[in-house]
Amino acid sequence: MNMNDVRTKVATISTRRSFLGGAVLAGMAVGTEGVLMPSATNAAPAADTKQPRGRLPAVYPFALGDFRITTLFDGSIPQDLPVLLVDTPQSDIDRALQYAFQTNPTEASINAFLIETGSRRVMIDAGGGTFLGPNYGGKAIESLALAGFKPEEIDDILITHLHADHYGSLIDGERRVFPNATIHLSETEFSFFMNSANARKRAYDDSRWFQTAQKVLGPYQRAGKIKTFSQAGEVVPGIAAVPAPGHTPGHTFYRVQSKDRTIDICGDIVHVAAFQFAKPATTLIYDADAAGAAATRARHFAFVTGERRLIAGAHIAFPGIGHVRKDGDGYAWVPIDYCYRGEI
Ligand SMILES: [Zn+2]
Repeated sequence: MNMNDVRTKVATISTRRSFLGGAVLAGMAVGTEGVLMPSATNAAPAADTKQPRGRLPAVYPFALGDFRITTLFDGSIPQDLPVLLVDTPQSDIDRALQYAFQTNPTEASINAFLIETGSRRVMIDAGGGTFLGPNYGGKAIESLALAGFKPEEIDDILITHLHADHYGSLIDGERRVFPNATIHLSETEFSFFMNSANARKRAYDDSRWFQTAQKVLGPYQRAGKIKTFSQAGEVVPGIAAVPAPGHTPGHTFYRVQSKDRTIDICGDIVHVAAFQFAKPATTLIYDADAAGAAATRARHFAFVTGERRLIAGAHIAFPGIGHVRKDGDGYAWVPIDYCYRGEI
């Protein structure tokens, strides 16, 4: 697909895109944040045959050394691959979906993570709150309650990047939902998204990310609750920042270590599992720097494969935890063996 095609495609979805840039569901219109909202002609969200209705909050706790980590499920959102994927022929999409036993749109989980270190309660990302529209995400706080905690009990929130699905839940109107938490993020990411002049420089209009950053982080900034870092290294005891630029300029992975155990929590390393493990070079229309995003993904896949390192992804199917192994010219995702033994 050349850039003219991209522009045409973006133009054709400009009135019906999801926050991820591509969901197309009947009876939906774009809300003020550019996310899907029920349209005036159809007050109820369109029926989605893939998505059974029911109790959504969900948690997956597991031990990592002395730490307890819990995936907090925020919900899931549809992704329209022909719109979303850059330079990807329909025949490739058809083949990948067939191979993965999926149909378009595919579904992306939204995972946040709670880490109990013994001395601190830390979250990595926090879900989308109300920013994604009704029935798309927004359940992370309920999942946190299911894990046994109120938002005021959280000490630190480490943000992977400033797309609304990762931190929209930090505010409720003007109110800080996590009144005692310090928000940690990359200085590069913070200064980029707090300056609206950085928006609209590409075919894909990303201006709403900048409005969201100022709206959500403003109350924390005024309360002196934002702390930025400018290089790799420990952010809170046991958790280190690993720069992962590309998807956004200051996109950050977090390396969590306790005793001899390590997990890399990798934010938006993958959005479309059916594609991006087998073909890490596949990028999305809303990657800020597509080549950088692809390079970061390929480099980290090679690293974690060599290390046999456990990883987690914000948009890999809940609970989003597993390993990456080499598979032909690309890689494959191996989810963890789901385990429950009562309280850990
Ligand atoms: Zn995301």
